[in-house]
Amino acid sequence: MKIAIYPGSFDPFTMGHLDILSRACSLFDRVYVAVLVNGEKQPHFTDSERCAMIEACIRYAGLTNAFAEKNSGLLAEYAKEKGACAVVRGLRDAADLAYESRLDCANRYLLPGYETVCLMARPQMNFLSAGIVREIAAYGGDISGLVPEPIKNIIAERLKNT
Ligand code: ADP
Repeated sequence: MKIAIYPGSFDPFTMGHLDILSRACSLFDRVYVAVLVNGEKQPHFTDSERCAMIEACIRYAGLTNAFAEKNSGLLAEYAKEKGACAVVRGLRDAADLAYESRLDCANRYLLPGYETVCLMARPQMNFLSAGIVREIAAYGGDISGLVPEPIKNIIAERLKNT
């Protein structure tokens, strides 16, 4: 069985994230979305909220081989624990590529045999980030189309006037 990890902050989960996850689900038998718990920054949504929102998106998209879990440890350890053969990441631009190359080297140092599979962002989504969604929602802008339908209202309500 080919297992992959899709890690990130997902603060919040966006249509860009869902697109990468759906494509990863067609490449691998099982994909674990690893929700980062101890990031450098204080997240806007708690780890449990982020997991619950991703689970709602997984059901909405009908992805039967995707699962959301919190991860507070090293990504390489988590990948080993899950028996994953790859870690999936999305690439939007050259800045993402530079960052991912360094991350891959660090994880390969920790876990020989570690592999990163990078999927290119869809052109219509390569401007999209969780930060852009937070900024638009904070000013009460329309985020439909930027985040999956089942989590649109909770994100808009929580982030308005933040
Ligand atoms: P963000 O950059 O939106 O804050 P994360 O840091 O949580 O998201 O990223 C998790 C993964 O999703 C990373 O591999 C990131 O490159 C990827 N990703 C984020 N937004 C997009 C997008 N619009 N299209 C494709 N991949 C994306």
